[in-house]
Amino acid sequence: MSNLALQQFENSTLSEVCLAGDAWMCEVKKGQLFRIVDLEGNQAVDTLFFSANNPEERYSATDTIAQNQRIYLEKGTTLYSNFAQPIATIVDDNCGRHDTLGGACSCESNTVRYSHDKYPMHSCRNNYMYALATHPIAKKHALSVKHIGPNINFFMNVPVTSDGHLKFDDGISAPGKYVEVRAEQDLIVLISNCPQLNNPCNAYNPTRIQLIVRDQA
Ligand SMILES: [Zn+2]
Repeated sequence: MSNLALQQFENSTLSEVCLAGDAWMCEVKKGQLFRIVDLEGNQAVDTLFFSANNPEERYSATDTIAQNQRIYLEKGTTLYSNFAQPIATIVDDNCGRHDTLGGACSCESNTVRYSHDKYPMHSCRNNYMYALATHPIAKKHALSVKHIGPNINFFMNVPVTSDGHLKFDDGISAPGKYVEVRAEQDLIVLISNCPQLNNPCNAYNPTRIQLIVRDQA
């Protein structure tokens, strides 16, 4: 077990570690900061945001790309909802950029991309479905599998080539890199700490992350 340097803040209201391959949920109030720390480096963190006041309003990859006129998510990027409203803003980041094109891995995509015998392998979509069926926050807000949409892959490196192809590349993150968003609405966060072992998105070694919610200083 490596010696992980957990980040600490006096103004934090939540600080938890999500184990490799696990699902995780929390609520973040409007104006609070939500930080994800890539404790061991090169970990893909598949993330969905929902409005706590109306779960029908949720993170939209297409609205975010169109409003920002950018395909990568970076410091300063505002994340938009399917109602074209700001849902969160990336206010701090020392990784460089994050993906929202590659989607979440699933049994089905593992089968199509790799081979049929990869079907039973653990996946992000399984994590989402498990959390939405069992987590108290999902029950409280009546969130279900129908609310899953295209997600953000924090720390994941999916470059778009000059001829328009997507590549799932070796990571650009490293131990201790972090990204922090400010909630522009009361939010529900749903994370799958990606268990993928068939491509280099987790450096073939899924690892733990730290999640921190804090009030603005
Ligand atoms: Zn995944």
